[in-house]
Amino acid sequence: MEFNYTENQRMIADMIRDFGAKHIKPKMMEWDESQEFPVEVFKKLGELGLMGVLVPTEYGGSGFGYLEYVTAIAELSKIDGSIGLSMAAHNSLCTGHILQFGNEAQKKQYLPKLATAEWIGAWGLTEPNTGSDAGNMRTVAVQDGDYWVINGAKNFITHGKSGNVAVVIVRTGQVGDSHGMTAFIIEKGTPGFSAGRKEDKLGMRASETTELIFEDCRVHKDQMLGKVGEGFIQAMKVLDGGRISIAALSLGIAQGAFEAALAYSQERSQFNKPISSFQGISFKLADMATEIEAASLLTYQAADMKNRGLNVNKESAMAKLYASEVSVRVANEGVQIFGGYGFTKDYPAEKYYRDAKLCTIGEGTSEIQKLVISRAILK
Ligand SMILES: Cc1cc2nc3c(=O)[nH]c(=O)nc-3n(C[C@H](O)[C@H](O)[C@H](O)COP(=O)(O)OP(=O)(O)OC[C@H]3O[C@@H](n4cnc5c(N)ncnc54)[C@H](O)[C@@H]3O)c2cc1C
Repeated sequence: MEFNYTENQRMIADMIRDFGAKHIKPKMMEWDESQEFPVEVFKKLGELGLMGVLVPTEYGGSGFGYLEYVTAIAELSKIDGSIGLSMAAHNSLCTGHILQFGNEAQKKQYLPKLATAEWIGAWGLTEPNTGSDAGNMRTVAVQDGDYWVINGAKNFITHGKSGNVAVVIVRTGQVGDSHGMTAFIIEKGTPGFSAGRKEDKLGMRASETTELIFEDCRVHKDQMLGKVGEGFIQAMKVLDGGRISIAALSLGIAQGAFEAALAYSQERSQFNKPISSFQGISFKLADMATEIEAASLLTYQAADMKNRGLNVNKESAMAKLYASEVSVRVANEGVQIFGGYGFTKDYPAEKYYRDAKLCTIGEGTSEIQKLVISRAILK
């Protein structure tokens, strides 16, 4: 077991710290306020190789493994969770789905564009009435010769509007049949495919979240990922990896919130002493640091297993469950340590607090992670 950063991880962390100081920190509160999705930042992340972290070099990616990927997401999320979320969604979901299940022609066509961020990717599973129960989806595709005609809507889709391409999972069989769904790659501009309402969110406000609408949208059969009926099973596999990325996102937010609170506790004096000298505060910091360490171990364990090609269904759910709950607890205590200032936008604590909450919801809620874990341990 190796607990220290490798050379690559150290290089990625340093690069992101420099990048964040120049290109994220100066603008992030503006983006947060106006809910602006800063596409130019992702184009620059593409130049740094961070939009195709897991994509092999032959398809224009960085060819790294999950350890480097976790480090990249956590370091970005320490600065701004929104940027971490969008980077993770682009890499794990849209790009990850094509990487895992695309045929050679699809990989050659889409991965180089996605890995360099020439194109931004979206991934649509959730629908207005089916989130946790995604297998019950109602968006349908009906075959018409060489084409499939899609009708319905997806919601809460990251980059639903700004995405140049989306992988979408739709019903092609019976409701209740896990083999009744199929995945398609759909490019922006395809007639009948459009973005709907943009969500006005509590946190992660610079990460765009919108509806996707399909009105007699005709998609050629060559755009299908794998075979008819494989879409839901593919999606579950994509989420097994994706959950490691949300664990990394959670970890980064928790680390950012902790570092801010730690520094503040040593600067802020009350009763003629730094507040860190009060046991009520120092014990909070001790709990926060310990929980972050445990979340980090679970996350890197899942990443290491994924690198070794092992089944991470249970471990990625455990990492996601624990790290996301830690993120919320740490961000909450962070606000408490900042006192009244933690409740203002003058300090970063409130943003970590708002952003952290998404981590217990996106890519499967904490309750759904417990379902996944309990199924794995009870079988
Ligand atoms: C910012 C953001 C970005 C997102 N990005 C994407 C994206 O890019 N692509 C995509 O497809 N989706 C995306 N999602 C959707 C996200 O994955 C869902 O919101 C999530 O899976 C929960 O679904 P839901 O919101 O419909 O909640 P529901 O499923 O309605 O759940 C409501 C509550 O009921 C609980 N619950 C439901 N079923 C059970 C059960 N069996 N046992 C116990 N409790 C249960 C849940 O845990 C939750 O507490 C995003 C969401 C957000 C907020």
